[in-house]
Amino acid sequence: APVNIIMIGMAGSGKTTLMQRVNAYLHERKEAPYVVNLDPAVAKLPFQANIDIRDTVDYKQVMSEYRLGPNGGILTSLNLFATKLDQVMEIVEKRASSHKYFLYDTPGQIEIFTWSASGTIITNTLAASYPTVVVYVVDTPRTASPATFMSNMMYACSILYKTQLPFLVVFNKTDVVDDGFAREWMSDFESFQRALSDDDESFMSSLMNSMCLVLDEFYAQLRTVGVSAMTGQGMPELFEKIDDAVKEYYDEFLPSLQRQI
Ligand code: GDP
Ligand code: MG
Repeated sequence: APVNIIMIGMAGSGKTTLMQRVNAYLHERKEAPYVVNLDPAVAKLPFQANIDIRDTVDYKQVMSEYRLGPNGGILTSLNLFATKLDQVMEIVEKRASSHKYFLYDTPGQIEIFTWSASGTIITNTLAASYPTVVVYVVDTPRTASPATFMSNMMYACSILYKTQLPFLVVFNKTDVVDDGFAREWMSDFESFQRALSDDDESFMSSLMNSMCLVLDEFYAQLRTVGVSAMTGQGMPELFEKIDDAVKEYYDEFLPSLQRQI
């Protein structure tokens, strides 16, 4: 069966660039993926999309027609697209035998996809049909301060909890900053606490310390990998982790889905 890979991450984390990189990497390996763009507001895609939400909805027109701001326009466009999801799934089914990987790029602003009904419907529909992996893209250079790192990981944790899907945290932009600091903080609780107290002695510290404990549990079972979407560094490791996440889909997600039905 094919594998759905959904790119999720903060605006600017590098989802679209990683789509392009993964696309190029798979083409090189003669495993051309099927590529879906779910970002209605992207100006220019650096890759060729097989299905493009922009072919279905014109988000600028949606904005003026419904008198919405940019975020409302993107959300409404995603909702309109979701009403045609059955057609998308028909196409996916037809292509399932000829493509191993299906890649999904999502809107720049993370919450439009993760906290909307249509984002949830799209994710659940994909996950109910084929092995599906959520790739959470992190802007590594911009998450190098302990407080930012923690809030980014909390967000990742909430998405994992919400989707329950096999999950992979990708530390992107390792060409700028190596992800070693993140790996150290995640594996060594005390080193993170040290970094926190060096950073800030404020009243937040005790709350931060408690949150560290929660995150420690999260890290214990978390898959992570460092990549550079720009240089292509880390692609084989990324796919090792994706394969591993697919195993989790069959071992844990699918049985629990079947129990719910
Ligand atoms: P998105 O909003 O998550 O889709 O982010 P984009 O893919 O549009 O990337 C945002 C910015 O980060 C762009 O200027 C990219 O060129 C840059 N970028 C993405 N990946 C990398 C990377 O691995 N290394 C570096 N140095 N820059 C990157
Ligand atoms: Mg993008």
